[in-house]
Amino acid sequence: LEEAQRVADEFEFTSEQLKTAVVEFRRLMDLGLKNNDEAMTMIPTFVSDVPTGTEKGTFLALDIGGTNLRVCSIHLQGDGTFHLVQSKSAIPKAMMIGSSHDLFSFIAERIESFIREHHEDKFDCTEPEHMLQLGFTFSFPVNQTAVNKGVVLRWTKGFNIPDAVGVDVVDLLQRAIDAKSLPVKVAALVNDTVGALMARAYAAPKGTESLIGAIFGTGTNGAYVENMENVHKLEKAEHQTPTMVINTEWGAFDNAMRVLPATPYDNALDHASVNPGYQMYEKRISGMFLGEIFRQAIISLTTASDPGMGGASLFNGEASKQLNLPFSLDTSVLSAISEDESPDLATVKKVVQEQLGVSAGLEAIETLQAVQLVSRAIGRRAARLSAIALCAIISASGRLSSSPTSKVDIGVDGSVVEFYPNFEEMVREAIREVLGEEKEGRLTFGLAKDGSGVGAALCALMARKQQ
Ligand code: ADP
Repeated sequence: LEEAQRVADEFEFTSEQLKTAVVEFRRLMDLGLKNNDEAMTMIPTFVSDVPTGTEKGTFLALDIGGTNLRVCSIHLQGDGTFHLVQSKSAIPKAMMIGSSHDLFSFIAERIESFIREHHEDKFDCTEPEHMLQLGFTFSFPVNQTAVNKGVVLRWTKGFNIPDAVGVDVVDLLQRAIDAKSLPVKVAALVNDTVGALMARAYAAPKGTESLIGAIFGTGTNGAYVENMENVHKLEKAEHQTPTMVINTEWGAFDNAMRVLPATPYDNALDHASVNPGYQMYEKRISGMFLGEIFRQAIISLTTASDPGMGGASLFNGEASKQLNLPFSLDTSVLSAISEDESPDLATVKKVVQEQLGVSAGLEAIETLQAVQLVSRAIGRRAARLSAIALCAIISASGRLSSSPTSKVDIGVDGSVVEFYPNFEEMVREAIREVLGEEKEGRLTFGLAKDGSGVGAALCALMARKQQ
């Protein structure tokens, strides 16, 4: 156990480190707002503000982010609630690596059958202003130049459609829709973090100011409301609103590694990743990576002799095939291990057997305790690191300082924040260390359910209002 404690201690991130990192985050935010070529890109989204909860109307939302395509229709009831109907379909493999014409024709077909089923009456509509307005969540890197304009920079996640690179993705979609004479206008191009911010702002309790939308899922990223006067990289002519939502791309925070911690396990993960040296913040926080950090740390324990276990190594030094397979562990494994409060750590044992494929040494409770110690240390560090971005944005905004009673809300989404045990509480503890207990007490967190549906619908609505 001593050896496991030593490894767990390597994942400590102290109050002092937190405070230094928050200062660095603010420095990189400012740089990103000035220049276009910074690591933390700070992308203006051309969405000028968040909704108030009183918005009304019916909108469409389209989401292509991974293997599925989702078409929804959202009816906003004007009281923070909504009705949603959706249809989901798998995107055929061939479409993911074909031509943009094929992919977008396929998408338009799905939209058509959705409208036939749910909005048949709209088919008679020929006036653009009465057409269905659509918010398009497109979770690939784009260079956005207007609320409804964005050029594809590159494809990720198994997609590769070369003829679409450098082309406005809204235009591609609108052309395919028009080719079928559908009564649909693509009103907004939406990043998933912006969707989370908008969806939560619509539903958030009255009297709180929605400031941040944050994703802690496969990856991590956040969007927030910035004062336009700070967005130096936008030309004056484009300054028409007092505020604008910024997509930070914070996964790339501190790629230079000035303030982020680096254990041997982090370094091993980075070397084995497809993009060494990039997304260094994300690699310490998000669901795609925590399992691998854990695997690296556990493997190191199977080769170290532990004086606390009579000189034995973890699992008697036996690593399974599964344990030796890079990126084989999901973050849900850490959630299950960390959650177990039972005296005999029965769940830990089960997960180690089933997910890690190990059976040696499990009769000793110390083995299970060692595994849990390491798992909890990694989850706790991820939560504390997440607080860096939140503290930096909150303090830069001045919103908790402007009045002693102001309340700030953060919309969150993603399996890590939703399912990792006590994730929010650990984030809050870190925020208390930086901002103090009084300010932390005026923060609310809320799950931004269905950001890519409701959030995109709200972006379409806000885009209409802005015109
Ligand atoms: P996405 O971010 O792709 O929209 P999710 O929010 O579901 O989707 O995130 C998926 C990630 O969450 C995966 O990387 C997975 O490792 C992690 N994950 C899945 N289940 C859990 C869980 N119970 N606890 C913590 N992390 C989880």
